[in-house]
Amino acid sequence: MKITIAIDGFSSTGKSTIAKMLAEKLEYVYIDTGAMYRAVTLFAIRIGAIDDSKQLDTPLLESQLDAINLRFERNGDTGKADMILNGENVEREIRTMAVSTKVSIVSELAAVREKLVAEQRRMGADKGVVMDGRDIGTVVFPDAELKIFMTASASARAHRRYKELLDRGDDVNYDEILKNVQERDYIDSHREHSPLKQAEDAVPFDNSHMGLEDQFERIYSLAQD
Ligand code: C5P
Repeated sequence: MKITIAIDGFSSTGKSTIAKMLAEKLEYVYIDTGAMYRAVTLFAIRIGAIDDSKQLDTPLLESQLDAINLRFERNGDTGKADMILNGENVEREIRTMAVSTKVSIVSELAAVREKLVAEQRRMGADKGVVMDGRDIGTVVFPDAELKIFMTASASARAHRRYKELLDRGDDVNYDEILKNVQERDYIDSHREHSPLKQAEDAVPFDNSHMGLEDQFERIYSLAQD
């Protein structure tokens, strides 16, 4: 029987890596909800609703939300699902610091959350889905059969993110990344709508000192229980 698997947790805890591996092994659909919030943030930047001063023009963004069309498309080269915003592949652009520094502010907006939660529920309606984010087990699919809540120290997470961006050739600064991780943690867990918190029935999972294979094996065995 296919189930719904919710993987929530702080930024850069490696949720998406584990979620992708799990989806592949179980032949489930994987949905990276962070990519959706990032794509809306990129859209907001492009229409001038938010800039480096991080002041959000809420009425402007709200008035344009219906013009945002999001979907995932499998990339033949990487085998991964790329984010498509209004027909354009924005997979690379949504991972830049320009987006990372604003995404938590855009994600606070109730209208943005409402739109994306509705789309996520549609995407996962048929079960057989692994979805990662901040509010999957608490809001999007509170009845998910398996919920994992991933944590790791801020420095372990910043190191992982630093390496990831460096490996793809970005010009990165470790202190800036650490600051961004800490800022997003704070905003994500203190916002008014759907703050990041562990669902009561979620399995807590601290992977600060755990290799990928170990993590995968433990979570895969939970999925089979
Ligand atoms: O998962 P990722 O780090 O790419 O998510 C980027 C940001 O999107 C998070 O810091 C958070 O502000 C927002 N987000 C959210 N709810 C989700 C997924 C992501 O608010 N379900």
